[in-house]
Amino acid sequence: MKINNKKKIIILLLVFIVITSLISYTLLSDNKEYKQLSYNSFIDKMNEGDIEEVFLRDDAKITGVFKDGKHFITDNPRTKNLKETLLKNGIKVSEVQGKTTVKDIITFVLILGGFAFVGFTFNKNSARHAEKEITEMSNIDNNGENPDAINFNDVAGNDEAKDSMKELVDFIKTPEKYERYGARMPRGVLLYGPPGTGKTLLAKALAGEAGVPYYAVTGSDFIQVYAGLGASRIRKLFKKARQSGKCVIFIDEIDALGKKRRGGLSGSSDESDRTLNALLTEMSGFNGGEGIIVIAATNRIDTLDEALLRPGRFDRQIEVGLPDVKARQKILKLHSRNKPVSEDVDFNKVAYQTVYFSGAKLESLMNESAMIAAKENRENINMEHIDKAFYTVIAGEEKKDRSTISNNDRKITAYHEGGHALVTKLVSPDNKVTKVTIIPSTKGAGGFSMNIPPDRMYNTKKDIRNQVMIALAGRAAEEIVFGNDNITTGASNDLQKSTDMIMSMISRFGMDEKSGLISYESILGNNAGSNSYIVDRIKAITEELYLETKEILQNNMELLDNVAKSLLEKETIDEDDLNNIIRKNR
Ligand code: ADP
Ligand code: ZN
Repeated sequence: MKINNKKKIIILLLVFIVITSLISYTLLSDNKEYKQLSYNSFIDKMNEGDIEEVFLRDDAKITGVFKDGKHFITDNPRTKNLKETLLKNGIKVSEVQGKTTVKDIITFVLILGGFAFVGFTFNKNSARHAEKEITEMSNIDNNGENPDAINFNDVAGNDEAKDSMKELVDFIKTPEKYERYGARMPRGVLLYGPPGTGKTLLAKALAGEAGVPYYAVTGSDFIQVYAGLGASRIRKLFKKARQSGKCVIFIDEIDALGKKRRGGLSGSSDESDRTLNALLTEMSGFNGGEGIIVIAATNRIDTLDEALLRPGRFDRQIEVGLPDVKARQKILKLHSRNKPVSEDVDFNKVAYQTVYFSGAKLESLMNESAMIAAKENRENINMEHIDKAFYTVIAGEEKKDRSTISNNDRKITAYHEGGHALVTKLVSPDNKVTKVTIIPSTKGAGGFSMNIPPDRMYNTKKDIRNQVMIALAGRAAEEIVFGNDNITTGASNDLQKSTDMIMSMISRFGMDEKSGLISYESILGNNAGSNSYIVDRIKAITEELYLETKEILQNNMELLDNVAKSLLEKETIDEDDLNNIIRKNR
């Protein structure tokens, strides 16, 4: 196939050379006989009316034809009114390029031919390349295989994400049911979270559980392709999916396609724009009754183009986070199912040691252990093997990797998040604290404490002040427990929130007596923050509330210790756990 193509190219090249030579020959062999005339005799002939036609050439020559058909050549003096004189004498005048004409034509033809040749081979190549890429793609696609070997039992932990995905099974199986109720069908689901946390696994499990084919592509695959190919691949993929009826389409690394455009400047290439548009068009083409679900995955939801997240697109977003200690234990056990594990292996202990490990890393830990045991020809995997494997798994990593975060950092996070959670419970008992964790989320924070105020028509001054105290409680706990020198950068987001809230109290809501019932916003617009009086007031109120927050925590130190302890132990606690700790201390 390859040789054949080469032959074809060589033949074409030869044909091309022959044709060019022929053309050049005919052009060059201008075999007319020119009679050399002096300029004076040329003028005479003109006056005599013997000249029929004249060609003024730019190479300082004049050629022409006598009335009797013979050709002549003479010098062109390039006087200004030569042409006028000639015309007045009734002679046809044309201005032409001189001898260069022939050369020019040849050059022109050669260049043109060269381009045609290059274009031809390139086109040929890229077409072949495209063909290859498309075939390759369909190969990595698993070609719509039904991963029936995989179901939700293969996913441990991630209970919330799993529950959300389970809801979709019914929708894929019986879309008619939902259609009958006029329910708007989810079209796209976005799974976001750190790498290796089981996003791909969840998508496969969904397909497996629903018993439908699974098509997978990766966003970055679409980037280094020839123009227009990304979009056509998307259309091909969807066409194939539609033909198979119900299915799950999985797009990994969607951020490669739908990166946020920065400051109006198109940060993404035209190519990824085109591919993204093709994707959005295909997705809006569903009528919902098809039972097709598109699952996309990303490590970084914050860099995604909002266009992707709009209703009718990836409007269902599910966080898939790093596993906490309980989930880690489950994942470890899951990946030991088919392995001979010695009885001395304490998965609980291993789970404690593998803080900040993703599911993929845990899987790799068990695999590595098995390999070590096999190499040693042991009967089964013991704790020693796992310990050895542990260092292999974390060895190749950068220092800043989360798995090597010191216990001290965990402790700081535990008190910081514990502070938020506890102050929430103490000042705003109506707020929900659904989840407190020291496992980092994708948002980059060390951990987080989910604080949801009840739905209210209005917020009172007290409500806002409480919210500010909750925001400041992380830093307050750090300062109380570790001392003023050891406060951390972990509070930056909190301070942003508290400053914004106090700013609104003063400049919009007239809630600060000293500043009065003035809408500073009306006067200063968005620049209220650059007003030094307002900054002074924000500072004063922040200080007052910070002191109050510290006092609350200092009066409940035992509680704070217990919440932090529980967090260090379980890594994630929920509202019930929190209420239990508080009740016990009362
Ligand atoms: P992601 O798509 O989030 O990067 P994957 O789904 O590709 O992660 O996970 C890679 C592998 O790690 C999976 O094939 C599985 O073996 C293991 N794994 C990850 N998360 C889990 C989990 N929650 N339960 C069981 N295994 C997991
Ligand atoms: Zn905080």
